[in-house]
Amino acid sequence: PLAYERLSAATWLLVVCFAFGRDPSPRKINLGVGAYRDDDGAPYVLPSVREAEARVTARALNMEYLPVAGHAGFLSKAMDLAYGEGAVPEGLASVQTLSGTGACRLAGDLLARFAGGDKAADGADGRPLVLLPNPSWANHAAIFRDAGCAVGTYTYYEPSTKSLNLEGMLRDLRDAPRGATVLLHACAHNPTGVDPDAEAWGEISAAVADAGLHPLFDMAYQGFTSGDPAVDAAAVRRFVADGHAVVLAQSFSKNFGLYGHRVGALSVMTGDAAAAAAVSSQLCILGRPSYSNPPLHGVRLVDEVLGDAALAAQWREEVAGMATRIAGMRTALVAALADAGSTADWRHVTDQNGMFCYSGMSADTVARLAAEWSVYLTSNGRISMAGVTSKNVGYLAEAMHAVTKD
Ligand code: PMP
Repeated sequence: PLAYERLSAATWLLVVCFAFGRDPSPRKINLGVGAYRDDDGAPYVLPSVREAEARVTARALNMEYLPVAGHAGFLSKAMDLAYGEGAVPEGLASVQTLSGTGACRLAGDLLARFAGGDKAADGADGRPLVLLPNPSWANHAAIFRDAGCAVGTYTYYEPSTKSLNLEGMLRDLRDAPRGATVLLHACAHNPTGVDPDAEAWGEISAAVADAGLHPLFDMAYQGFTSGDPAVDAAAVRRFVADGHAVVLAQSFSKNFGLYGHRVGALSVMTGDAAAAAAVSSQLCILGRPSYSNPPLHGVRLVDEVLGDAALAAQWREEVAGMATRIAGMRTALVAALADAGSTADWRHVTDQNGMFCYSGMSADTVARLAAEWSVYLTSNGRISMAGVTSKNVGYLAEAMHAVTKD
């Protein structure tokens, strides 16, 4: 058995993949990795993206460097996708980034360079404070810490109800130091799958405004919650409508299946064109010594898909297809658990959104799943629903029931 409790969630992912690779069982299941899989458990290249790639390749384009700010056509389409066509805020600074991770890091770099020194907003030692939900994506704390920010947390998930602790969250936001940055998952919260509903977002928006906090949205799963990218951007758009100066990190890894191509964007609402130009310029100054200029191929594919109405419509259907398959697996898992004889309450499996299910299983239970059933997930009990298929869901339910029944 593996010593789950001694490893961080991020390290665990590596261990899970390694242990999974060595396990000879033909029934083994990898539910650790946060990448979409089709119903055969295979990586999925969206047909719309394949078509875009064929068209781009056929043009035999050159492979020169992009400007440090990135691909202009991609950026304008990315902003339309996030904020809504015709609704992109005035004075928005935007740059292409190395996917969502790079967007978060650049936001952290910007904060570290310009937001420090405001006593009220600082962490104990003068670094700008970034507040993360508890829990958050395992990489967030390291990203902002390495950028030079202080990292704190706010109440988010309530283990006893397996849902949002809205009261605790609002209290923590209201008590936060004025001027601090609050990171919000726009949709499909990782790792819990628990998102605020529209009413809760309204209360969160008011609390962020009252407390004088700066909202930083991380939108890594636009389209994965509802199947509709516009619906999944509702929280971001609501904050814009409520008058916040939103900062937004976008990833195209999941919704375009472009994981390895590192396609993302960071946008910063500044209010006017002159300030936007100044912020864009500073973002480029930060990007230049870090990666010089962003990657070319993936953004050409997104630009091609979103620039062609028919291909964009096809892409929307494919995103909806991924969301629907995952939602279907949630329902199938709950039904299979009942069939296996489980009398536990698994309603949270279907209540939660996006790619992950925060199962509530303990680290010990997760260790038993690996040792006795060859079912691998991270020690926090997070199941990547993308790894569940119509072929393995029955076996998974049997395994989950066996390790949770007493
Ligand atoms: N934010 C969140 C919440 C994520 O779950 C992920 C991916 N696991 C990312 C950002 C970044 O992914 P990428 O760098 O591939 O866009």
